[in-house]
Amino acid sequence: MRKVPVLIVGGGPVGLALAGELGWRGVSCLLVEQTDGSIVTPKMNEVNVRTMEFCRRWGIADKVHNCPFPRDHARDAVFVTSFTGYELGRIPRPAVVGSKPEQWSPMRLQTCSQMWFDPILRDFALSSKGVELRYRTRLENFKDLGTGVTCEIVDLETGKRETVEAGYLVGCDGATSAIRNELGIGLTGQGVLGHPVHLFFRAPDFLKRVGKAEGTFFLAIDKGGLWANIRVVDPVNAMWRLMMIDSDGKQTPESIDRNALIERAVGKPFSVEWVGCSIWTRRSLVAEQYSKGRVFLAGDAVHQLSPTGAMGMNTGIGDVVDLGWKLAAVAQGWGGPNLLESYSVERQPIGARAINHTSEFHLSHGKFHDGFATIEDDTEEGRTFRAEIGPELVREVGRMFRTIGLQLGYRYDDSPIIVPDGTEAVPDDPETFIASARPGARAPHVALADGRSMLDLYARDYVLIRFGYKAPEGSEMVEAAKSRRVPIVVQRIDDAEAASIYGASLVLVRPDGHVAWRGDSVPNNPVEIIDRVRGG
Ligand SMILES: Cc1cc2nc3c(=O)[nH]c(=O)nc-3n(C[C@H](O)[C@H](O)[C@H](O)COP(=O)(O)OP(=O)(O)OC[C@H]3O[C@@H](n4cnc5c(N)ncnc54)[C@H](O)[C@@H]3O)c2cc1C
Repeated sequence: MRKVPVLIVGGGPVGLALAGELGWRGVSCLLVEQTDGSIVTPKMNEVNVRTMEFCRRWGIADKVHNCPFPRDHARDAVFVTSFTGYELGRIPRPAVVGSKPEQWSPMRLQTCSQMWFDPILRDFALSSKGVELRYRTRLENFKDLGTGVTCEIVDLETGKRETVEAGYLVGCDGATSAIRNELGIGLTGQGVLGHPVHLFFRAPDFLKRVGKAEGTFFLAIDKGGLWANIRVVDPVNAMWRLMMIDSDGKQTPESIDRNALIERAVGKPFSVEWVGCSIWTRRSLVAEQYSKGRVFLAGDAVHQLSPTGAMGMNTGIGDVVDLGWKLAAVAQGWGGPNLLESYSVERQPIGARAINHTSEFHLSHGKFHDGFATIEDDTEEGRTFRAEIGPELVREVGRMFRTIGLQLGYRYDDSPIIVPDGTEAVPDDPETFIASARPGARAPHVALADGRSMLDLYARDYVLIRFGYKAPEGSEMVEAAKSRRVPIVVQRIDDAEAASIYGASLVLVRPDGHVAWRGDSVPNNPVEIIDRVRGG
């Protein structure tokens, strides 16, 4: 029987990112994906700032920056009555070229459709020799024996069945996760929020033909209220996606009147080349737990978010970054017996936080359903109405574009492997981010004089940072770590801004870049601290 340290089920972005993360940490894994991996109707388009920080760590950020989405394409979000109608409001989101990174990160949000991002992740995963990806291969069943997980997989081309013994099984098998169902793990949340319709089409020079200034995301609001968003997916190949925000749930791709929808969006009959159609269910749900025994779940398998806020895949990538270093620590023999359990404790609240905010963003659309009879009128009343509703749309619906706090501000406050320091937590607000190195938080970015970001210090090992020449040596911490075979490096940072933001002379940062402990002196019990942060 073939043995693998980790079997990953699902080659969507989350499974691919886990394979990449494990390979990068030197852990061998096998990923099985039942499809051939090609993407006809991509869902995800926005790779957020935190995911870009992980891409920077993995050395693939340039590939994402250089994806075919033009770097000089304005990414504005625009509210219109229709493409040939009135522009009601515009949220400037400048092109990558010429825009500065976020103040709190060396990276910025990148528009990169899943049809480009998944292959970048796939190549990253395959760049480690211990990673094997098998397409057209399905997990049929599994049994957790306590010492390993016996998995039956089938090659869908040949029908050949194989039993694999995995040290750990990770289900990145999407919203309908059979692995989650088999484990009997329930989902909680608001449930189904709607049945949007996706229509993909090609329309060369679309914006020029309708006379609208460049943007990426258009929201259409007419007499019938806010009903659709239309975004450019691939400007070079003129591929667009029209999303009818909701339908009655009874439609099929065949029954949808596509031409009527494009006519409503454009404001006149308009010919396009139809590429594809999908109808999906908008859900807001999170799993009650993310693991059982030797089986773990990540991505849509444990959280199904409204895409408002672009947090679905991005939250899933955060899951596998948390899980990846823990699986590596156990494989390498220094992870303690409680380390893997901390995955669910740390990540489940983050999934719950994401579903709550993103469903709020979606529900804000609901305020713009009724009372729009005059919105398209070329009258004094129509003009007054538009002048009032535009800023309101930007303020309310526009919240889904102002999410830097949501992206970077998640933290593991109640984790058993974090050592609290008794300080007050900064507010957790989706729109604003306050940098903090309170244990549990993402260790903050500060631009260093030599051009590095503080984030560049965090990779495969724990990092003990000493701020300034007066900081204690920290050798007792290092000895304690070594006594437990915990990989640790010491970095001295002479930077007043970083010292002030990190708030202590010594800060211990985990391999995933979250603060595990901080203090102004070496603790009396360094081995206890090390044991706690390694899940001992
Ligand atoms: C309209 C829309 C827009 C979105 N935009 C964004 C965005 O901008 N940013 C963002 O972060 N998120 C976005 N999302 C969400 C994002 O697309 C999902 O969160 C993401 O695709 C989930 O990735 P995943 O790998 O967890 O699951 P999936 O992509 O669903 O992949 C699961 C994979 O598992 C495979 N599988 C299942 N069972 C088996 C089995 N037994 N054996 C083998 N393989 C199996 C499936 O074939 C599938 O390929 C959007 C979603 C929608 C609907």
